[in-house]
Order: sequence, then C-alpha cells, then structure tokens
Amino acid sequence: MDTINNFNSHVMGSYGRYPLVMEKGSGAVCCDENGKRYIDFGSGIGVNSLGYCDEKWADAVCAQVRTLQHSSNYYYTGVQARFAEKLCAITGYDKVFFCNSGAEANECAIKIARKYSFDKYGKGRSDIITLENSFHGRTMATLSATGQEVFHNYFFPFLEGFINVPAGDISALKAALGDSVCAVMIEYIQGEGGVNVLDKEFVDALYELCAEKDILVIADEVQTGVGRTGKFLAGEHFGKHADITTLAKGIAGGIPMGACLAGEKVSAVLTPGTHGSTFGGNPIACAGGLAVLEKAGSREFLDEVSKKAEYIKASVSSFEETVSVSGIGLMIGIMLRSKKAADVAAEAQEKGLLVLTAKEKVRLLPPLTISYEELDEGLNILKEILKK
Ligand SMILES: *Cc1c(COP(=O)(O)O)cnc(C)c1O
Repeated sequence: MDTINNFNSHVMGSYGRYPLVMEKGSGAVCCDENGKRYIDFGSGIGVNSLGYCDEKWADAVCAQVRTLQHSSNYYYTGVQARFAEKLCAITGYDKVFFCNSGAEANECAIKIARKYSFDKYGKGRSDIITLENSFHGRTMATLSATGQEVFHNYFFPFLEGFINVPAGDISALKAALGDSVCAVMIEYIQGEGGVNVLDKEFVDALYELCAEKDILVIADEVQTGVGRTGKFLAGEHFGKHADITTLAKGIAGGIPMGACLAGEKVSAVLTPGTHGSTFGGNPIACAGGLAVLEKAGSREFLDEVSKKAEYIKASVSSFEETVSVSGIGLMIGIMLRSKKAADVAAEAQEKGLLVLTAKEKVRLLPPLTISYEELDEGLNILKEILKK
C-alpha cells in the first residue's frame, strides 16, 4: 500500500491534508518522497524556527538523546535548569512552567490566572476575556477561550467563563471588565485569525484598564514568540510585558514543547500538586530549545529577521494581486485582489513553494534562518502566481 492509503486507513481523518508525503529537509528546503523539492515558507506552521535539521540544533538534540532522554518531574535535570535560566533571562520573566504544546501552555496560563484570583479574592472572579477572531488551541478550555464561533460546535458543553470582545473595541472591553473577570488573554498578532495586528491604542488601553483592577494580562505568543516578529517577544513592539506569556511552536525548533512564562506577581501561584505534565520540560525538548535560544536570543539574529521581513514585504507588495500586507517580522499576511488563498497555496505547491493560509489571506511563516537565496527562489515562484 502506498503511504497515503496506508496513512488514511490508520490515522484519524481530523485534518484536511495535501496529497504530499514529506521525507526530509535542509535549511528552508524540504523534499517529498518523490524527490521533489519545496521552498518552505510555512516552516511547519512556524515550528521549524531554525529550518530543517539545523546542524547545531541536531547535534544538541542527538547528544541529549544519547545522554538522558527523559527523567520524570520527580527529579531535576541540568538541561531544564539551563534552558529555563536562559529563557527567563531573555524574556525578563521570573519563572516558567514547561509543557508540550501551545494549547497546554494556554491551559497553564488559564489555571494560573484563576488560581491567582482565587487565592487573593476567593470564588466568583474567574472569567477570562478573549478577543473575537482569536485562536488559543484545541483542548476543551482553549477551544472555549477561542473567539470564533466555528470552533464552538459538536463538543458541548464548552467551559464557562470566557467572554469575547471585538479586537480594537476599547469601550466594549471596558464594559466587559466587570468584577467577575480575572484575566484578559490576547494575541498581539492574531495568527490563525488572519495575521491581524492589534492596534497600539487598544493594547495600551487594555493594559491600563487591567492594571486598575488587578486583572491579569495573558499574552498568547505561541505563534508570535521566539523571534518570529524580529523581537524575541511580540509584546516588545508594543512596549508591553504581560503578567503571563505563553510560547510553543518555534520554541524548540521542531521538538514538541510549550512554555508558560510568569512574572513575579504570579510566579508562585502554582504550588506542588496543582499542575503537572509527564513530558513537560523533557530533556530532549530543552536541548532543542537551548539550541534555538543560542541563535534566536541574540540581537543580531533578530535584526536579521527584521531585515528579511522588509525584503519580503517590499517584494510581495509589488505583486499585482497584492491588496495589502499585514503582520510584523516573518509573520506575514497577504490580502489578495481576486485569487483565493487556498488556490494560491495549491498552485505554489505545484511550482515548488509551500505557503500557508489564514482566513482569506496567504500567510508566510518562513524559518527565521532562511537565506536570501532561498527567499528569492520562493518569492520568484510567488511572483509568477501573483503578478496578475
Ligand atoms: C498554534 C497556536 C495555538 C495552539 O498550539 P498547539 O501547539 O497546536 O496546541 C495556540 N495559540 C496560538 C496563538 C497559536 O498560533
């Protein structure tokens, strides 16, 4: 049986997949089982932050595999300590909880917010405001948090205690921030929602209103974090430091990992027995994460990300099909004049380029390490498709 038939016979059909079997990769290029090469402007949805099989990253991961692949959280490991230390130093957070995905990082953030409020104010202050068009994950709690009706189907009942407010609507936010609210959760740039950057005035007002009432701000930086926008955290573009920030996707360069970062105010909320994860802080993931931070934690690397982003934006803006370009850094949304984003993605794939879509936009999340040669190759294909 060929791979696709074999796969579909045994793996649940929860994804719409392209008929393409990926085999290997190097840099920003991956190859399918037939040896066809693709420039990857999606990097596994922002996960392969250092591209495919970065040498230092692969060495670090392999060395860890051969030393200690796992030790339960009953014990300490040096690699988790070093990774946590570096992550806190780079982000300015006090402490971190490690888990295995973006949804889990957000689950942790939700639990911290509710327990912080419970410890200080008692019951009845557990609501969390999220924004319309947001995306926070696929677990029951994070689906409930997600502000898109299409996700609120089939799996009833959803969790109580999430209130949606339109992004950018300061008066609606003000009205929603009642006495039952413990936190507001935002993406500075809505990724799945269509690469929409929040207004600076809205973010300013949000932080101010929350501070007045000791309401926590949770920044879901699962997609925007770890250098994606040319700053280590997207909050830096807004001059903001949330009480809690969640990371995942690119954090360990392709090894499953999520992180929930807590500022001093909330870093002692989780006490022994209140939260946990068997795999959380796994040594292999931490080794991969350290290799990512070695690169993405430096100012020069992040400046380079911003330069590449400007290069892409200048090119993409000149296409006839381009109405507008949104996003910050290497998180880019292209609004099209007449073509459908899904059709562009399919045509690009045909021509050897992988792109993503987000709502009606073509979305680009190339590896942060992509070379200008690889960029040119991909942009030339995109130009062929979008010039008219
Ligand atoms: C991808 C994503 C998630 C979910 O991450 P998983 O690792 O799939 O659980 C949550 N929030 C945002 C902003 C995301 O982009």
